[in-house]
Amino acid sequence: MSEERIALVTGANQGIGLQIAADLVAHGVTVLVGARDLAKGEAAAREIGERAHAIQLDVTDQASIAAAATRIRGEFGRLDILMNNAGISRAKPNQDFAEAVKTNLLTDAPLDAVRAVFETNVFGVIAVTQAMLPLLREAPAGRIVITASSGASLALNSDPANPHRKMFGNYSVSKTAAHAVMLAFALALEDTNIKVNAACPGFTKTALNNFNGTRSLEEGAREPVRLALIGDDGPTGTFSDENGTVPW
Ligand code: NAD
Repeated sequence: MSEERIALVTGANQGIGLQIAADLVAHGVTVLVGARDLAKGEAAAREIGERAHAIQLDVTDQASIAAAATRIRGEFGRLDILMNNAGISRAKPNQDFAEAVKTNLLTDAPLDAVRAVFETNVFGVIAVTQAMLPLLREAPAGRIVITASSGASLALNSDPANPHRKMFGNYSVSKTAAHAVMLAFALALEDTNIKVNAACPGFTKTALNNFNGTRSLEEGAREPVRLALIGDDGPTGTFSDENGTVPW
């Protein structure tokens, strides 16, 4: 049965998403490598190997999401795992990282930048999950995971002893909202075979943080992949990293 499982990973052309896709393939899962730019998705899929297939998917574009769902049903006939991984830390893709950090705090963030980050990190998760739910409901053991962030934990950031809390701004607020979205899906789907969990990869070296992260892609992918592959005795509605439960 593991041979037949199909996963969709959003934003899988690079970074943690690419590693998650490769790791799922290594576990015998067929992976659809979601990418806004199909050519980048195809290059990533070639790099991963035979069991990886590129799929055009912009999580902010309803037509792209609907087309992806239609293609998955038509071509693969099922979807077992949805990895909501796509995310942005700044509104404009080419915005200088130092500049983005300066306008990250909500005291400074232009409202259109706040909206743009929410569009991908929050509404994108809702839109893709809703579109894929009919397929996931038909799967024998549907799994939904989001790449979450312990830096967006309200409990950790409300502790005055936390040295990182000065960075709690636009990006973190969007990830906190994404955690709430994940929990809402988990609760709404509690009576189904679908399990929904949030996995923090830890501070991982990717474009998202200008490659300042301290963890490798392999390390970052571990917790999301673990939760994508949990059995029927696994949890739902949890928020964790490699060290265990993260407080909301
Ligand atoms: P990354 O920038 O390398 O990857 C982000 C991916 O999302 C890219 O493939 C990008 O093309 C894709 N993406 C962005 N907007 C998209 C859209 N509208 N539609 C489809 N795809 C889109 O960064 P990463 O660190 O690999 O980020 C992956 C996830 O991990 C993000 O959700 C991020 O919030 C989360 N995360 C990262 C860290 C870290 O330290 N790197 C920590 C906690 C959580």
